[in-house]
Amino acid sequence: MLSVEEALERILAEITALPAVQVPLAASQGLVLAQDVIARDDIPPFANSAMDGFALLSKDSHSHEGQLPRLQVIGGVAAGYVADQSVEEGTAMRIMTGAPVPPGADTVIQIELTRYDDPESTWVEILEGVPPGNNIRPAGEDMRAGQVVLHSGTEIGPWEIGILATLGYAAVPVIRRPRIAILGTGDEIIDVHEPLRPGKIRDSNSYLLEAAVRSAGAEPYRLGIAHDTVESLREKFTEAATCDLILTSGGVSVGDFDLVKDIMAEQGQINFWRINMRPGKPVAFGRINGVPLLGLPGNPVSSAVTFELFGRPVIRKMLGHTRLLKPQVEVIVEDGVNDRAMRRHYVRARVQWRDGHFVAHTTGNQGSNLMTSLLDANAFVIVPEGGTQVHPGDTAKAMMLDWPEV
Ligand code: AMP
Ligand code: MG
Repeated sequence: MLSVEEALERILAEITALPAVQVPLAASQGLVLAQDVIARDDIPPFANSAMDGFALLSKDSHSHEGQLPRLQVIGGVAAGYVADQSVEEGTAMRIMTGAPVPPGADTVIQIELTRYDDPESTWVEILEGVPPGNNIRPAGEDMRAGQVVLHSGTEIGPWEIGILATLGYAAVPVIRRPRIAILGTGDEIIDVHEPLRPGKIRDSNSYLLEAAVRSAGAEPYRLGIAHDTVESLREKFTEAATCDLILTSGGVSVGDFDLVKDIMAEQGQINFWRINMRPGKPVAFGRINGVPLLGLPGNPVSSAVTFELFGRPVIRKMLGHTRLLKPQVEVIVEDGVNDRAMRRHYVRARVQWRDGHFVAHTTGNQGSNLMTSLLDANAFVIVPEGGTQVHPGDTAKAMMLDWPEV
């Protein structure tokens, strides 16, 4: 049996980042930059005022022999406009926040430090001396033309989008979002809208995986259910040929798996592994028509857990991320883990910060067929292989599902 780490390493060795594309700025969130982003202009592009006030010469702002300077107001400049004259000695110009500093002025005094009689006043008294450059945001203070502002490989979030907008990137070079085909298998599986009939159960995996794929940043394509026949599987795999990854659930038990293996033998190659973990021992990995295929187990909890362990890192690698794995922290397992397993056990749990510790509560009965064991879980408590016992109050590592990858 392979360890989780060995299986993951073998899978990731076969996966590379997808090609770059240009996407509209607003659609770039969550994607990874495929090129360095270089400032095309100085930002801000012109020296501008940080305050509402008056633009003047610093040397005109100092009082002489107790006498406040009184300057002639020659006009005003609003944000979005450019002054049509220069400020000269003995004069000042009204200025708004964000407006370009008029030629001649070397400083701005905020309105609160001035006195005048009405908004159209032709004079202003300066109540405090101000040094040159006061309240002036110089051109290029934030970014310089030619500067690399964002590096290739950066994940684009709201703040990066703000920077790209200010630099005029209406389209952004990013790694393309992977398209993931999702295929359920099994003669017993019916679709969600169908009433239950004897022997049948509804397809929960395809819908669960569709949502999980989307939450990992990829585009899911749900292909429905393949029957347990080579013909049915072959037909579905043909539909998946243009995708970047095929995710299947079920049909990887030893007997079933032969079907998939037959197709793989004609159209690609496949590795089938027993992984030393619980839930989710059997996992298949290979290619069909050149498209990587990750075959997850059929039990809904197993398929959910193995998606988190193998599927999510694969999608992140295709997306161009370098941080692929969820962080692990030490937790106190308040209620302990009842069942002892020889395989490494990923126990669904709720982890919270309490009194200076991370404290885990397991989500009850951990049967791999019990979907309710996923409810409220934000972590997997990891019980090492070899039948390790976790008593109430013992510490263990937990993989934090709702934390960003490291
Ligand atoms: P298998 O690996 O195909 O033997 O499936 C293992 C278990 O998972 C069986 O009890 C299946 O009925 C169940 N199962 C397989 N596929 C799905 C699915 N898409 N939705 C819900 N349960 C499934
Ligand atoms: Mg099956």
